[in-house]
Formats: sequence, C-alpha cells, structure tokens
Amino acid sequence: MTLTTETATILTGLGVDTNRFTGGTMESFTPLTGERLAELTPDTAATTQEAIARAKAAFTAWRLVPAPRRGELVRLWAEELRAAKADLGRLVSIEAGKIPSEGLGEVQEMIDICDFAVGLSRQIYGLTIATERPGHRMMETWHPLGPVGIISAFNFPVAVWSWNTALALVCGNPVLWKPSEKTPLTAIAAQAVLDRALARFGDAPAHLAQLLIGGPEVGEALVVSPDVPLISATGSTRMGRIVGPKVAARFGRSILELGGNNAGIVCPSADLDMTLRAVAFGAMGTAGQRCTSLRRLFVHDSIYDAFVPRLVKAYASVRVGNPLESDALVGPLIDRAAFEGMQAALNAAATMGGKLHGGERVEVPPGGYYVRPAIVEMTEQVAPMTEETFAPILYVQRYSDFEQAIALQNGVAAGLSSSVFTRDLQEAELFLSAAGSDCGIANVNIGTSGAEIGGAFGGEKETGGGRESGSDAWKGYMRRATNTVNYSRDLPLAQGVVFDIE
Ligand code: NAD
Repeated sequence: MTLTTETATILTGLGVDTNRFTGGTMESFTPLTGERLAELTPDTAATTQEAIARAKAAFTAWRLVPAPRRGELVRLWAEELRAAKADLGRLVSIEAGKIPSEGLGEVQEMIDICDFAVGLSRQIYGLTIATERPGHRMMETWHPLGPVGIISAFNFPVAVWSWNTALALVCGNPVLWKPSEKTPLTAIAAQAVLDRALARFGDAPAHLAQLLIGGPEVGEALVVSPDVPLISATGSTRMGRIVGPKVAARFGRSILELGGNNAGIVCPSADLDMTLRAVAFGAMGTAGQRCTSLRRLFVHDSIYDAFVPRLVKAYASVRVGNPLESDALVGPLIDRAAFEGMQAALNAAATMGGKLHGGERVEVPPGGYYVRPAIVEMTEQVAPMTEETFAPILYVQRYSDFEQAIALQNGVAAGLSSSVFTRDLQEAELFLSAAGSDCGIANVNIGTSGAEIGGAFGGEKETGGGRESGSDAWKGYMRRATNTVNYSRDLPLAQGVVFDIE
C-alpha cells in the first residue's frame, strides 16, 4: 500500500470524507518519501472571519455550561483518542516523519492533557483575600475569556493543539485552530476525533472547536481579530516577532511558544553512561526537530576526552532511515528547506573553526531528506551556535569553570530548556537557583526534551514567555475578576479616605 493510500484509509476510518482531497491549491507531502499525499482547498481571510463569528456565537452558550460538565466533553475526547491512538499516531509518523513510538507518544500526550483537564474542570478556583474593611468580603472569580486562536507548528502537529484545546474547553472557551500548512491531514484527522466526542456529548453549541486550513495569511486573520481575545501561537521566533506585536496592538492576550536553543552541561561527577543516552535522545530524537532538542553541550575539560569520542561513535552508528520501514531512530527532516538550513549552518560552523562529525545526506530511496546527525566541536560560542537551526546539529564545547558554563548556556537569545548532568549537589542546586539557568525548563540528570504535561511548559526571552499545559497554565485561558462584597450597613472607604456627603 502506498503512503497516500494508507493515509486515505486512516482518514476514512476516522470518518473524514477524502473526496475533498483533490484539486485544491494546497498540498500535503510525507517527508518519509517525498510522496504527495493530498491536495486541499485552504481557508481564506474571509472564511476565517466567518468562523470567528461562529465561535463568538458558540461562546455565549458554552461559557454558561458548568465547568465539570465541560470536563465531560474532554473526558469523551480522551476516550475517542484512546480508540484512535494507533491510527492518529501512524498519521503523525507519515506526515511529520516521526518514528512510531514518537508518533504514538504524541497522541498519548493528548490523552494525558485531556485527563489533566478533566480533573481541572472541578478545580477551577479563586482566592478569598483578607479585606481591610469591616463587613466586607473580597475574592477572585475566574471567567471564560472567549474564542481562543491556536496556531501550531509542524513538529508537534496535534499535541500542542490538544494542550490548548483541552484547557480552553474546560475554561469555557471555543477554539479556532490553524495548524501548520505542512501537516494539514493530521490536523483534519485529529479534528474528526474531537468531532466524534462532540457528537457523543450531544448538547455542545455548534462550532465550539473549528479547524482552519492554510498558511500564515489564515493565522494572520486570527491574529488581528478583536473577537479572538487570546492567540496561542507555537512556532519560530521569526513568526512570534510578527504575531506578538500585532496581538499587542489590539490589546489582545498572547501565549507565545517560540524557538529554543537548548543547552546541557556535563560536569566531572556526571554518570557518563546515563548522560550519553540522555544526550543522544535529546539531540538526535525527532531528527533534532523538537523545540526542546539539545543543540549545545558544554563538557568539563577533565572528562571531555573520555566522553565526546563516545558520543561521536554513537552518532556514527545511529540508525537513520524511514522509520515505518526499518528500526531507524532518526527519521527524515521535514523538507528540503530544513536540509539546506542544516547544511548552511554546518558550512558556517566549519568556517568559524568548528570540527565536524557527520551531517551528510543519507540516501533513502525513493526520496526524502535524511541526514546523519552532526556533532560540531567548537572552541568558542559564536554564530551559528547562538542560533536555532531546526535540524540535528549538536555543538560541543569545553569548559573549565561551572559558572562560566552557566553563563555560556544563558548567553543566547532563546530561553526554553536546559539540563545539567552532575552528582554534585552544589552544582545541581546552583543550576536551579536564581543564579543558574535562565530557561523556562531546567533539569538535572535528564535531557532537555520530553517534558510531561503536568508541568507548565514554555520558555523565557525570545522563546516568548508563554506557558501552556499543566500547573496553573489554565489561568492564561480565563479572565480574572476581583470582587468585593459589602454585607454591612456602612460604607468604609479603603485607605481611610473620607468622602461624607450631606
Ligand atoms: P513556523 O514559525 O514556520 O510556523 C508555525 C506556525 O505559524 C504555522 O502554522 C504557520 O503557518 C504560522 N505562521 C507563520 N507566520 C505567521 C504569521 N505571520 N502570522 C500568523 N501565523 C503565522 O514554525 P515551524 O517551522 O512550523 O516550526 C518550527 C519552529 O517552532 C521552531 O522554531 C521550534 O522551536 C518552534 N516550536 C516551539 C515550540 C514551543 O513550545 N516553544 C513547540 C514546537 C515548535
């Protein structure tokens, strides 16, 4: 069976009418072979406006549904996802090129956030705050916000949408999703799974969760609309630089989840066997196409010559290939532009004195852009090491002083994820302290990637500052009202102000 046929079979099985996938101007390809999977008709700014109007109408009803009842929809969604996990996971592998366990893992992450959100639907709460005025009570109430615009990247074609959607739905908000133009079929399949849950739920307002297919111009229509109070945008810092100011210009709220340039520090006391495995997964997993992929490694002088050659050997032997037809651990890059970006970065690093291992193209008939992951030994942290190249390149540099290593780690514009590998308590605690890593994620003895949904996810500086997923990230999807109730017969004013009228 060709991948095109298999894709059509999966979509049909999920209830999608595949007859609409011919004759459109937008194409979907699989990076596994380069094969074209479908042609689609994209949305436009005008159809996006219509969808926003429908979402606005849905909001007036959904905000009044009690939160635990809203949670019931998400519980049904998790059931549907469990049933669809194999198919949807396979589609993630086909359209985004992930190895099977990562394709399935992405769907598991969707199930996990749904479970989290179901519990959250009974735990949305505000504080009661001590008031200085007698006979008064002060409290916080959390209200639904309105339609949430979700813009997502190719490398997590469905999980990031579910992080936002599960929270938005229990918080009382409709969603409008603009997935990556590189992964529209996975999005259509995922939307079909949610539609099944909506049908079983029965009385949700129409158009509670809508999908908009297209490129940046469709995202732009969401971004500029005053009827979309929250834009949650995941993608490159380049995209965030455009989207952030446009949302701010209309005083909208944004959750920006942008690029990373994540680093690890390997200390003299590190367990090198474990570190090797953590570095290998962090840097080569998903072919280096995770926002949290490990891109820079600072290795202490005393262990550099013992550790780095082992890493180089692991890179030379890692299995690269079509992960649906072999036991490869490194699948393809998403497209030719990603391959060219990688080669340009490697060439630049070589001219800056970098010592290169790997990085060459691996031919995997009939096509696709496969590469051997690259290690570049550097003596100084210079461009392109300071920039995110969305490909499996790991820059490795020696250090001698731990605080200098922290400074190098923090010395880039992005601030998403970071790790230290040490068995020295002082180093570990310093790394996690205010004087340590400046990233949104700071880990000890595990890699930079592979976060679980229970924690808030996101990063600082040019990563955008947004937080999604667990912890109290839900607050970003609601509006907070401070309420003061006077149950006395007097009207004392705060701060002792006197304003007595006759
Ligand atoms: P991208 O920026 O090219 O596209 C992301 C999304 O933004 C797509 O849906 C795209 O259509 C949309 N978009 C682009 N320009 C836009 C505009 N002007 N207005 C509105 N929408 C616009 O990113 P990509 O190549 O799909 O993904 C890779 C990037 O995403 C990497 O930089 C990676 O680090 C980042 N990423 C970050 C996180 C995170 O949580 N921080 C997660 C995944 C990916």
